[in-house]
Amino acid sequence: MSDVHVIRHPLVQHKLTLMRQKDRSTNSFRRLLREISVLMAYEVLREMPVQMIEIETPLAKMMSPVIDGKKTVFVVIMRAGSGFLDGMLEVVPGARVGHIGLYRDPKTLVAVEYYFKMPHDMHERDAIVLDPMLATGNSAVAAVERLKETRPRSIRFVSLLAAPEGIANMQQHHPDVDIYTAAVDDKLNDHGYIVPGLGDAGDRLFGTK
Ligand code: URA
Repeated sequence: MSDVHVIRHPLVQHKLTLMRQKDRSTNSFRRLLREISVLMAYEVLREMPVQMIEIETPLAKMMSPVIDGKKTVFVVIMRAGSGFLDGMLEVVPGARVGHIGLYRDPKTLVAVEYYFKMPHDMHERDAIVLDPMLATGNSAVAAVERLKETRPRSIRFVSLLAAPEGIANMQQHHPDVDIYTAAVDDKLNDHGYIVPGLGDAGDRLFGTK
């Protein structure tokens, strides 16, 4: 069974509270999502592999660790996942980026794919899937299923908010994929929205409502 890592750092929780407020502007929502993604990146990338290289300080030679950012691929689930990307790239600027386009059929809530583009050599890369809202989990399950066809070295899933239903769905279909989130909310409503949640993340991010 995969682990669910709830990131309880006060800075993350503070920013999440601000994002949940219904009167927050698009500008402020977007800025907060970028800031929170920087903070979450620290937790998500905690186990990132490093290699030792020899460097010279002003005083002496030493062996010191560096990461190889190119081995990381951030996989954005469009469209709200893109709001998570900028902050993650600030922390790992050399990372590669893949995109998966899925939409939720409004009647069945089932995920339908319309776009898929990954870097080559995925088997050498650790994939970090970005989707702010893990609601029913149908999109997440479909995205990870499709991603697994490219055989990445490992997969982690990062959401800002998760519903218990979405976590259960992911754990059932992808027990090998750890989930990182800032909060696990109460439930889904009849329209598949997370409650209390923060509404439609894509609309709030892009001001399309
Ligand atoms: N997608 C969203 O943007 N919000 C939800 O609450 C659920 C899915």
